[in-house]
Amino acid sequence: MKDVVIIGAGITGLSVAWRLIDKGFNVKIVEADSNVGGLAKSIKIDNYYFDIGPHSFFSEDKEVFDSIMSLFHGEESAMPFSKRTVKMWFRNRYVDYPLSAKSVLFQMGLMSPILSFLSFAKSYIKNVIVKRDTNTPLTIEEWAINNFGKYLFLNFFKPYTEQFWKISTSELSHRVIPSSRKMDFAKTLKHLLINKYLELSKREPGKLSLVQRDSLPSYYPKKGFGEIGERIAKNVLKNKTEIYFNEKVEEIAINDDKSFNVKSKNKSIKSDYVISTIPIDSIVPKFNPKPDIQILEDSSKLEYLSLVLLYLITKKKDVINCQYCYYIDRPYNRISEMNNFSTDLSPANENILTVEISCLKNSDLWNLSDDEIYDLCISSIEKDKILKKEDIEDFKIVKIPSVYPIYRKEYETYLNKTNEYFSKIKNFSSVGRQGSFYYGDIDQMVRIGFDEADKIISDNF
Ligand SMILES: Cc1cc2nc3c(=O)[nH]c(=O)nc-3n(C[C@H](O)[C@H](O)[C@H](O)COP(=O)(O)OP(=O)(O)OC[C@H]3O[C@@H](n4cnc5c(N)ncnc54)[C@H](O)[C@@H]3O)c2cc1C
Repeated sequence: MKDVVIIGAGITGLSVAWRLIDKGFNVKIVEADSNVGGLAKSIKIDNYYFDIGPHSFFSEDKEVFDSIMSLFHGEESAMPFSKRTVKMWFRNRYVDYPLSAKSVLFQMGLMSPILSFLSFAKSYIKNVIVKRDTNTPLTIEEWAINNFGKYLFLNFFKPYTEQFWKISTSELSHRVIPSSRKMDFAKTLKHLLINKYLELSKREPGKLSLVQRDSLPSYYPKKGFGEIGERIAKNVLKNKTEIYFNEKVEEIAINDDKSFNVKSKNKSIKSDYVISTIPIDSIVPKFNPKPDIQILEDSSKLEYLSLVLLYLITKKKDVINCQYCYYIDRPYNRISEMNNFSTDLSPANENILTVEISCLKNSDLWNLSDDEIYDLCISSIEKDKILKKEDIEDFKIVKIPSVYPIYRKEYETYLNKTNEYFSKIKNFSSVGRQGSFYYGDIDQMVRIGFDEADKIISDNF
């Protein structure tokens, strides 16, 4: 039977293996980390489970939903329903998130609804009069002004987006808008605003628009989100599949007979198929023979935003009174209160606050020491009366270099060129959040993994 090597034991890589295992393939997964799960792992230290930011599981894809839920068959209480509660810190007060008619009308101040409406009306009329070329990709600035007006762009989209991405809204494609964003800002304008948003925000794969996905029921494993990946890995390992941990792939040699040798420090594994789930900018230079200089340059333009996580351990409960809250004009973009996901993530009398700081790779922020990151955040946290220094028992810092594909306005050109190069390598695929340069959710990664495995299966049966 054919040999398949999967690079990366995140949810995508594990899902490819999960689908292949009972079809008789020899599957080997090579993982740089010491554990499975990738961005969806939980790091267990002492009696704490630290997730990589707030995660919950939801899906409209029935097969994927049933597959993930089947991992908890007979132990449904280990993966309970978890209602998403989200807020946004806006002009020194908490407002509902996603923006709702109520937030604009009552929580954002008296002038906001009037100015939002006037500026929206201006954009709407302009859009009717001036027909836009729909083939031209929009920057987030153009998209937000066209669809919501300049007032909401300047007061909401621009500050939030630039704080998160550290890049001007005139340089970013509108596709960077995260999938959880729902703008239902006035019911009376809904048919004008939302229909447009729905249309613009449809993303493949997945049948529902982003707005509809936002209202799907969500679930969270009691012992940290990482349990999903761990349970998939358990199934995968039952069927002779091997996972090699702490093995960072350094080279993919393409042999004369078109087979591969995937090489890490201690392994060289021969295979008929290679499925990579690691960042595109890091996989292209690993090929031997070396790709053309042009492809190396094009793929290096597909960058990822990094994430620094500060975990605060505290005895305080009900700190932000929601699962997570977005911040503008702060050193961090989001704080999650982990007790509001599961009280089993820390000892009974304790709670974890996860503070997320996005940054460009190798930026000054990324290079700060642990103490400097703590000091940077704690003064804002104290000022906003979230926690006092003396409430904090301990803290931990985790840094992840490649987290969010950066959709700069010209990214599609470079992605297409890189995909064209990949398509010429028989039996190789680059898939998943990092490998497809696709800012998707867990269920979409499982779908991508299953579909990738189906291609290999149909090739061989
Ligand atoms: C803060 C945050 C919150 C999120 N919240 C949600 C949510 O609520 N719901 C949801 O559905 N999704 C959420 N997501 C998205 C979800 O986490 C990702 O879509 C998913 O985990 C991506 O899986 P992946 O396997 O494609 O990639 P990854 O998880 O990135 O896996 C890639 C794997 O490759 C390994 N690797 C890298 N380089 C090498 C190498 N050279 N050799 C070997 N191995 C290597 C990595 O260690 C990693 O294990 C969130 C993501 C983030 C960052």
